[in-house]
Order: sequence, then structure tokens, then C-alpha cells
Amino acid sequence: MSVDLVVEHCTIVTPAGRTGPEMGVAVEDETIVAIGHVDQLPDADRRLDAEGNLLLPGIIDCHIHNREPGLEYKEDWESATRAAAAGGVTTVVGMPNTDPVIDQPEHLELKFERGEAGAHVDFQSYAVLTSENLEMIPALDAAGALGFKIFLGSTVGDVPPPTDGEILEAMAKVRATGKRLGFHEENGEIIDFYTEKFKREGQNRPIDHAHSRPVIAEREAIERMISFAEETGVKVHMYHVSSGDGAAAVGRGKERGVDVTAETTPHYLWFTEDVYHEKGNVARIQPPIRDEHQQATLWEVGIDGGAIDCIATDHAPHTDDEKGVSDPFGNTWQSISGFVGLETEVPVMSTFLAKGRLTAEEWVELHSTRPAQVWGMYPQKGSLQVGTDADFTIVDPTVEWTLEDRDTLQSKSTVTPFEGESFVGKATATVVRGQIVYADGEIQSEPGDGMRVDVNP
Ligand SMILES: [Zn+2]
Repeated sequence: MSVDLVVEHCTIVTPAGRTGPEMGVAVEDETIVAIGHVDQLPDADRRLDAEGNLLLPGIIDCHIHNREPGLEYKEDWESATRAAAAGGVTTVVGMPNTDPVIDQPEHLELKFERGEAGAHVDFQSYAVLTSENLEMIPALDAAGALGFKIFLGSTVGDVPPPTDGEILEAMAKVRATGKRLGFHEENGEIIDFYTEKFKREGQNRPIDHAHSRPVIAEREAIERMISFAEETGVKVHMYHVSSGDGAAAVGRGKERGVDVTAETTPHYLWFTEDVYHEKGNVARIQPPIRDEHQQATLWEVGIDGGAIDCIATDHAPHTDDEKGVSDPFGNTWQSISGFVGLETEVPVMSTFLAKGRLTAEEWVELHSTRPAQVWGMYPQKGSLQVGTDADFTIVDPTVEWTLEDRDTLQSKSTVTPFEGESFVGKATATVVRGQIVYADGEIQSEPGDGMRVDVNP
């Protein structure tokens, strides 16, 4: 018997532990059929030698802005998932602030259609809930949305935020679907106040944008949404937790028995707010990158203490013009928030591994297993078990390199504060349902090879 693919001579890592270095996996019909020592693996039509590498269950990024439909001048499904493949990411979940916004089943179906035509890796999408579409929740659920998102306060894309009353109503309806409701959790009134004040006073530096969105705005929104979830019984998720105080608020919610999950991003763990003095508006993001104290607590309470479930990038491409790259220390109020991340998330986490900040098992749990569990894709995704999707991220954990030139990235827009940063480790190959989509420094797949992930909440 000969199977489709064998990946061999690697160390296999799951949250439960690691075995290696002479291990491998066998794949037939997109599915893992054997995991074992190289001597025990079957013959294969194709063999991938992963000597010296770690083989992880495919990395899942549950927070990207793929921008399609409607904002393809920034990014589209094809370019975003090409970046994912090159970055070692096997499944991505698109945010709903596209044009049109994903607020009704037809828009979700359009987004899925475009993904099926363009994607190199597997994908899903959230649907947005605004003041105007709460009656659409059952239909959006039936149309296959992975989960739901509410933007609290103003955001990129001007999605009107629901009132607290509408949020309670939305929670009851989402609870009935069994799916999870995620938040862009910043208190809009606090932010609007400081934004106006700083503009009036001529405080226009990149760091002023960061300070216009203080930690309390995040912490308060998390605490309020946890209270609402406690009342309504819905499962909630806090996207892009940026601060130690925010992570601690999530941890208190978990202790109270609320089904609250949370993610943080590589940029909050890597940079402190000094980045605004070094790289200016290139690093502008919402919520902003915090000071050293908040970052240390985010590690302590969030990562080491378990308040944070997932790593995700908030990959948010914008053009050089929109970001104001030619004058990065120019008026911050004329710049836009967000930057790309799909091709630097594996290197960032691998570097933390090399520094002893995190074990490989903890990394895999945060970046594959928990995201799949939180969003109802487990064990098909995130498990690395016989009988599940053959999604692998293959990582050389020792290669030292620097992102010298962002033009080498696959995304359409490439603005990132990680340009110039040095890493230990990178993805050397990416396998999605048994297909090698990236290897030898090249994309190996075609647009449309990626598939929509079925949801099973
Ligand atoms: Zn986002």
C-alpha cells in the first residue's frame, strides 16, 4: 500500500508532548492515517524530508482582515492566504468589516464564494452584529458563519456599534445558535473623549494615538461584556487583548465560571509602546501596543497564568499611503490603524521558544489546539490525530534571520513594524489537508485549493 504523502524525520509536537527526532506522519485522502517512527511509516507517492524540524498541528489564525469582498486594493483572499501559506498558517478566519460588511447571509455567501475561488489555505469568516441586523442571527448561523463579532465603539470601517441593550438582546439570540460571540472590546466613549481632546490640544504624535485608547477602556469593556455573558449564558471571546489588566479581567471571568475565551497577538507580546518612538505610525493599531508593565503582566497573567487562550495576528493590511509610511512620525490622526502579520507570527512565537519564554507544547496549544476548540473546529483542526485533517506547520526552530525587506512578503500591502526585526525560526513547509502549499521558499498551491471549514459548535 502506498499513501499520498509522508512527512518524515521530524519532531512532532502536540499540547500533550513531543516525540522525535525520527518521527513522521502519513497522509491519505487529505487525512492523517498514521503517526509514528520513520521505520513504521508506509510507502508514499511523495515524501517530504523535515529533518531537524518541528512538525506542529497546523497553525490557526482566527483573526485576519482578508479585505475581500470590496477592499481588494488592500488585500484579497488570494494574497492573504498566500501570505498565510508562506507564514506556516493552515487555517485563517476573516473579519467581517469588508465592503459590504458581513451582516446578512448573502454577504457571507459572497465572502465564502470568493474564498473558495481564491484561497490557498482553509478559511472561515465571522458575521458582524450591528444595531441593524439582530434579526439576522439565525440566518447567519444557518449560512455557516464560524461565530459572531460586535465592534464596541468606533472602528476601521465605521460599523455602527450596538447599544448595551441591543448587545443583551444579541447575546440571547447567539446563545440559541450555540456559537461564540467575540468583541472588539474597547469602551468607545472613553476613546472618543480622549481622541477629541488630544486633537484639540494638538497632541498629534504616534504615541498620542496610543494614549488616547487607555488600558481602562479595554479592561472596562471586557468586564462589562463578561457581566453580560454571565447574565445571558452566551459564550464570549475577547479579540486582541493588549494589556495585562485586560488579561486579568478575562481571568477573573473564567474564575467566575463564565465561558469567556481570549486572544492576544504577537505584537503585544513582542513590542512595548517604545515602538511608537522608533517606528511611528507604522505600528499604529487598535488597541495600541502598551507599556512594559502591561506587557509583563500580559505574559504573566495571560500566557503563563492561562487567561489567554489563543494567539492571532489581527493581520490588517493597509496601503503605504493610508498608513503614511513616507512620513511615519507625521500627524497620527491622518494615519490608519493596523498592519500585516501572517508571515511573522510563526517566527515571533518560535523566537519566544528559542528564548525559553514558552515551550513548544504551550505554543501549539495557544496557536492551533485552543483556537480550533474555541471556534468549534476541533478535532478536525488543531488536533494532529489519526482521522483528522492533515494540516501541518513545519518549522525550523533554529534558523536565525532578519526581515530585511518587507517587499519580500506575499501580502498586497506589506506595512509592518516587524520589518527590521530579527527572529529565531521560521516555517519551512506548510501542508493543508495533505497538500504541500508551501515548501522550498515557494508557494506550491493554486488559488482555490483552500476550503471553507465546516463548523461544529
Ligand atoms: Zn481586527
